Amino acid sequence: MAELLLETFKNQLLDRKSKLERTVSFFENPDTLYDLLKQVDKALERIDAGVYGICEVCNDTIEPERLLADPLITVCLDHLSKAQQRALEADLEDAGKIQRALLPKNSLELGNWGFTYHYSPAGIVSGDFCDVIPTPKGSVIFVVGDVSGKGISASLMMSRLHALLHSLISFNLPINEILKKANRLFCESTISANYATMIIGEAREDGSLDLSIAGHNPPFIITKGNVFSVKATGFPVGLFSDSVYEVEKFHLDKNDSILLYTDGFTEASVNGNEYGMRRLQEQLPQLQNEFSAQKMLETLLKEHTAFLGNQLPGDDVTLAVLKRI
Ligand SMILES: [Zn+2]
Repeated sequence: MAELLLETFKNQLLDRKSKLERTVSFFENPDTLYDLLKQVDKALERIDAGVYGICEVCNDTIEPERLLADPLITVCLDHLSKAQQRALEADLEDAGKIQRALLPKNSLELGNWGFTYHYSPAGIVSGDFCDVIPTPKGSVIFVVGDVSGKGISASLMMSRLHALLHSLISFNLPINEILKKANRLFCESTISANYATMIIGEAREDGSLDLSIAGHNPPFIITKGNVFSVKATGFPVGLFSDSVYEVEKFHLDKNDSILLYTDGFTEASVNGNEYGMRRLQEQLPQLQNEFSAQKMLETLLKEHTAFLGNQLPGDDVTLAVLKRI
């Protein structure tokens, strides 16, 4: 394991140890506390012996994101006891429920904008996120993002980002400032191997549309007979605390729309043949006029399912359409 990460774990364990020792006197029956202290000591011994983060059963590496969540674990995912497996499944189910509760209502009409999304985790929890928030000044802020990694750690990061974005949006800041602050807060408050790509946009009553893109797959803007993609305007969130983000400005007329997606959609593949951005882009010009946001989404998903046949997408898939109505 990397020297720096080991040092982090060691400091974290020493910190927990001293906290535990300070609370001993508060307990009527401190036996469980002594057990825990023993486990902390053993973990520290493993660090000194150079075997920390190695599964006691198979000698393989323990998943780093699991160690970050619980530095006392001693086996890899494959070698959990039955009880540990059940506990993990229960945790996942809970995390999945929390995530579903964080999703916005679907098929919304917000002023003269329609917003529809499709959100489909590959497992019980997802690293994708999707949100739409009407602001007090009458504009609509929308977000689609994708946290690196899988499982509980990605889903927890997604929940934290959701909370951060909601608090920052209430400050009435331009979207690139929201991204900049979310990135700083995220980098400074976490020891995490995860990062997130995301698009944040603000659409106003008059059809003006601002976009700020943190290393995310280029969204497509669909205007009269014209489809074009918009490139990233900054790095993913959670990589560098000093990242800055530009804003790209557009104007959408009635029936124009923007399509956002996560890479699970375009990178889904059959026998090594990827769905790809081009296949997606080629369908968009036909979808403009009489199609509602909902109908656009359904058509794209139908075509995607037809392409995949019996194959399931291996990754979380999120697709969202914002359309001026
Ligand atoms: Zn193992």
